[in-house]
Amino acid sequence: MTTETDTLPLNYDNILANHLDNLKQQGNYRYFQALDKKADKHPVFEKTLQCNVSTVVQTFVNWTSNDYMGMSAHPQVIQAFVDAVKTDGVGSGGTRNISGTTQRHIILEKTIADLHQKQAALLFTSAYVANSTAISILGRAFPNTLIISDAENHASMIEGIKLSRCEKQIFRHNDLQHLEQILAETDRERPKIIAFESVYSMSGTIAPIPDIIKLAKKYKALTYLDEVHAVGLYGENGEGIAGQMLCAHDIDVINGTLAKAFGCVGGYIAGNATIVDYVRSFGEGFIFSSSQPPALCSAATESILFLKNNPNSRKNFHENIKILRGVFRQAKIEFEENPSHITRIIIGDAKRSKLIADRLFNEFGIYLQPINFPTVPKGKEGLRIVCTVLHTQDHIAALAKALLCVL
Ligand code: PLP
Repeated sequence: MTTETDTLPLNYDNILANHLDNLKQQGNYRYFQALDKKADKHPVFEKTLQCNVSTVVQTFVNWTSNDYMGMSAHPQVIQAFVDAVKTDGVGSGGTRNISGTTQRHIILEKTIADLHQKQAALLFTSAYVANSTAISILGRAFPNTLIISDAENHASMIEGIKLSRCEKQIFRHNDLQHLEQILAETDRERPKIIAFESVYSMSGTIAPIPDIIKLAKKYKALTYLDEVHAVGLYGENGEGIAGQMLCAHDIDVINGTLAKAFGCVGGYIAGNATIVDYVRSFGEGFIFSSSQPPALCSAATESILFLKNNPNSRKNFHENIKILRGVFRQAKIEFEENPSHITRIIIGDAKRSKLIADRLFNEFGIYLQPINFPTVPKGKEGLRIVCTVLHTQDHIAALAKALLCVL
């Protein structure tokens, strides 16, 4: 016998709307801020606001962008993009295997491989796709691989591990003892991949890379390092933290992005020729997706070379972080101390973080996106402040003044 409820159609929309309502109640619903980005004013942007019947254009200072070096608005990068788009058009028209490879892709991959002093590099549409594809396909390449992952690894690495269907073990964040314990308890001949980041994007902590390499060698593990928040910013040539620590040659796979310090979009891996050829040949996220626009490849190449040849811009960037933190310390604005460029103020509550960010925006013309779960664990909600090379001392002083009013 069928009851009335059995015959009722499933209300898919209602179920989804309930999930969304829950998210809103927890304060974790994401509201996007649409910016009118202006290349010549970066990090200042405009926003057209509706006031009763008229519209007003207001300016804001962006303290939340990962365009750390302002390269998205750099005249040479823009020029490279415009020149190439005029000759090549916009889209590549295909996957890399089917007409989507141009000389511009090849040159960019060679530039990335040179930057990391690796034999080869492989481009992806994003570093997210690069991580999920490369980790999953490498995990599946060996029999019974164990993937050992830092507890603070980015969602893209976690997705790669899930897709690999390999067994995983998580070591406490940057905890070498815990990592060694897991390695020591594992059969020495079992294939193992240690997956970790150099600069952790939310906490700003930095991995003890040489020590992790030592353990990897001792226990015969491959190393997979995400340098997304380090490329363009650290190292003599902007090659990242492993380069700065003079141990990049011992890392098996380096992952990076073109979307943050390099100011473009896209991601990559770099490694020895065999590993890169393997991911190129078997990685679904690489094979079955249209390639990057050729003009984008030219812009990214220009950006990488510019930052490589201009170490002073990196020096100025780090100088700016010191100035910001000095001003915060003097004003007694509490932030988490860390050795990287990411300055985090913990609020510990999603709703309060949003209220503070709203006040900064509406009353002070300051854009700071509240960072919520699941980007950070519950209790660690707060403000992630990014001081780029283009922020001025006046911007910094105005931020400190505003924070003192709202915190
Ligand atoms: N890895 C880390 C640590 C990240 O923070 C991010 C993005 O924020 C990514 C990977 C993905 O980079 P992309 O924006 O190029 O997809």
